[in-house]
Amino acid sequence: MTRKKLYIDGKWIETKEYYKLRSPYNGQEIAEIPLADEKLVDEAIAAAERHKAVMRSLPAHERSAILTRVANYLEAHMEEAARILAQENAKPLKAARAEITRTIQTYRFSAEEAKRLYGETIPMDAAKGAEQKLGFTVREPLGVIAAITPFNFPFNLVAHKLGPAFAAGNTVVLKPASQTPLSALYIVEVFEKAGLPPGALNIVTGRGGVIGDRMVQDPRVKMVTFTGSLEVGLRIRQLAGLKRVTLELGSNSPVIIDNIRNLDAAVEKCVTGAFAYAGQVCISVQRIYVHEAVYDEFLQKFIARAKALKIGDPLDEDTDISALISSGEVDRIEAWIKEATEQGARVAAGGERIGEGILAPTILTDVPSHVSLCTMEAFAPIVMVNRVKSVDEAIRAANDSQYGLQAGIFTDSIHTAIKAARELESGGIIVNDVPTFRVDHMPYGGVKNSGIGKEGVKYSVEEMTELKFVSFAALE
Ligand code: NAP
Repeated sequence: MTRKKLYIDGKWIETKEYYKLRSPYNGQEIAEIPLADEKLVDEAIAAAERHKAVMRSLPAHERSAILTRVANYLEAHMEEAARILAQENAKPLKAARAEITRTIQTYRFSAEEAKRLYGETIPMDAAKGAEQKLGFTVREPLGVIAAITPFNFPFNLVAHKLGPAFAAGNTVVLKPASQTPLSALYIVEVFEKAGLPPGALNIVTGRGGVIGDRMVQDPRVKMVTFTGSLEVGLRIRQLAGLKRVTLELGSNSPVIIDNIRNLDAAVEKCVTGAFAYAGQVCISVQRIYVHEAVYDEFLQKFIARAKALKIGDPLDEDTDISALISSGEVDRIEAWIKEATEQGARVAAGGERIGEGILAPTILTDVPSHVSLCTMEAFAPIVMVNRVKSVDEAIRAANDSQYGLQAGIFTDSIHTAIKAARELESGGIIVNDVPTFRVDHMPYGGVKNSGIGKEGVKYSVEEMTELKFVSFAALE
């Protein structure tokens, strides 16, 4: 079993303590991972602080070239990277390859964005008394950024932190999720090979509950960019003081199915949206509201497609659904199913546990709006399908949520689509597709308890830079 090292100040270092990383699918030990303590966090931040001037002065074309080399390397080593992912977070290989493909794009978008840090000229003569002045803005890097990432898309969500941060000329201390350090350590090696200056990227692996506060509170850190749960996000927001904070949190994404002609297309997309990576996606389809005119047909087709999904080993080529990140997650969902059925819901498919850590794709109908499956984030292969009389009723139900990351609607009517786009309370509205749709340059981020700030490379670059204003006067 390989023992991994931390990368701080351009050096691979050992730690006093390690933990054993195990496969979520079969419990096998995969690697020994360094447990960073607060002292190592301090060293990592100090290195990032020392080297921020180097990154700040690196020309845009060099920052862009480094990011391009990272993307090229990943393209050439796609299979190796996908297998790391499948091993550490039980993502089926098909989905793992799809994630690496997106990761490559995220780094390519970042390479392009590195060359587009534009400011603007301000028409100073619009103000009386400033007629002779020349005013313009420039975007400057913030300095040290702390990046904290979740387990579910460990390559691409790390890329959404590192790509824009380096495009903008910042330095980074990265803390990946404890279950998915291998992909992060791998990408650090790739950046080293790509010629990123030493000290620009530092990684600390270990328990978020132990080292997280230190990262968030250190005054040398100028921004915390976090993707993960609401609970941890709230804590970070409370501790971060005046630092810039981006929080990409969870949701219980709704999708509305109007009385449409092409029901098959909607069914197909909803199956992927609800069950891809066993529902462990922040924009997984969790609540489906179907117009009564097509409800029975939709449900029957949806159940048939869900039952056809292949359950198994993430390393098997044809697996669609594998283990959840821990068996405790299956316990939690079993309790939710019990709660919902006691309150009148019906299990239309699945509901059973397979082995220790797998939940069969599960569909519940007639789910009351106050039970956990409707109000909380499931993050599991479970979805509710409720009947509605009208799109108005569906929009009201969709909005009855503490979350608002993305929402979807399938409709043949442009008027209904526009109404839904206006009225749904969500960071993104996806018409004729599931809310799970995301590409990596579009603006992405939630309202309500789904977070603050936007990702999508260009938008992250804006969050990760300071807008500075310069005014010039000519002295006669
Ligand atoms: P999580 O438990 O919140 O963990 C996320 C990260 O925070 C991990 O690196 C974790 O480290 C760290 N952490 C834990 N306690 C911390 C603390 N006190 N201070 C600082 N960091 C701390 O989330 P997860 O289970 O990995 O991921 C699932 C969640 O992420 C879901 O809610 C999902 O919706 C959300 N998510 C959102 C998006 C989005 O873009 N909106 C995308 C993907 C996922 P440890 O692993 O060591 O505990």
